[in-house]
Amino acid sequence: MSIISNAAISSKYELKGANKQVPIEYVFIDEEGQLRSKTKTLDYMPKTIQDVPPLDMDETKDADIVLLGAQHRRQLVPIAMYQDPFRVNLQGKLVLCEHPTRQHCKEIMDYYAHLEPWFGMEQEYVLFDPKTNRPLGWPLHGEPESQGKYYCGVGAGKIFGRDIMEAHYRACLFAGLVLCGCNAEVTPGQLEYQIGPCVGVTIGDELWMARYIMERITEEFGIIVSLHPKPMRGDWNPTGCHTNFSTNEMRSAETGLEAIDQAIENMSSKHFEHIEVYGQDNELRLTGEYETGHISVFSYGVGNRGASIRIPRKVVAEGKGYMEDRRPASNIDPYQVVTIIMKSSFNYKSQ
Ligand code: ADP
Ligand code: MN
Ligand code: MN
Ligand code: MN
Ligand code: MN
Repeated sequence: MSIISNAAISSKYELKGANKQVPIEYVFIDEEGQLRSKTKTLDYMPKTIQDVPPLDMDETKDADIVLLGAQHRRQLVPIAMYQDPFRVNLQGKLVLCEHPTRQHCKEIMDYYAHLEPWFGMEQEYVLFDPKTNRPLGWPLHGEPESQGKYYCGVGAGKIFGRDIMEAHYRACLFAGLVLCGCNAEVTPGQLEYQIGPCVGVTIGDELWMARYIMERITEEFGIIVSLHPKPMRGDWNPTGCHTNFSTNEMRSAETGLEAIDQAIENMSSKHFEHIEVYGQDNELRLTGEYETGHISVFSYGVGNRGASIRIPRKVVAEGKGYMEDRRPASNIDPYQVVTIIMKSSFNYKSQ
């Protein structure tokens, strides 16, 4: 529990709707990719995102100008709405706001809408104790027992932070996000949740909102969530955000494997353009060890967790399904990642 705030106390004052006022939490991504949010009260219940007005930010404030950067972002424009798991009784809403990389992503997804692109993302993260600056479960000095027993671990000493993972899972389901699973990862203190499959640009909306909910929950626990791709040096699995991808052709038994192979071939010649947007410090992660493919070469394979792109064994057996791009780091902007996957897979030429 945090020393400077206490959610158990503050939630006592969440008294049930005596009037029609609805709290809207506007969530937005700043220039550095940091999530921020601001509350505004509406005096009616919004039914759809169209019912939520844009929020003007004070243009005269230096802090806001730095925060928002480009001119068009001085107004926060709502694009997606979810239930607010932190204001259940008040029937509050979480509202995600427009971002330049989302606008471009949506253009590309609209252009390819006939292919019905689906994406699923596996967000890995590491929980840090701010008092020690070490991941949960790590001793003050030295290292924990080497990895092997932690992945999908159960029991004291084999998983650290389950209460946070579980609270996040429940809160996301309540919000209406497509959280399809979660598990403990290979390094102690490292965990993962999965989102999807989601159609087109909505994968980015859902991942950003799931990250926001994680920030709020870890804030309550007084724990830091790190999305750095290699937060601890040494013999520890790094932290990624595997991106799973399919189209209607890939999901059909007649055309599945052929469509997957063709998209991978097209992507192979754009490897370094992909790496450009696959996360900061990703070179510390994509070393060719610890279930990664090396950053300087493109590779793919069936059931191969050491490749850039993996085709799951089940997909080959069934002749249809999806592929997994294992290159994206934990700290990616999902809008940029799914945009380049679409563009490369189908040799997009801008008009
Ligand atoms: P693993 O850890 O074995 O790589 P996970 O179970 O953690 O796999 O994650 C699988 C991901 O694949 C999920 O995000 C899920 O939504 C996504 N996924 C499943 N089927 C499809 C599909 N047809 N198209 C795109 N993504 C998919
Ligand atoms: Mn003010
Ligand atoms: Mn996974
Ligand atoms: Mn994983
Ligand atoms: Mn994976």
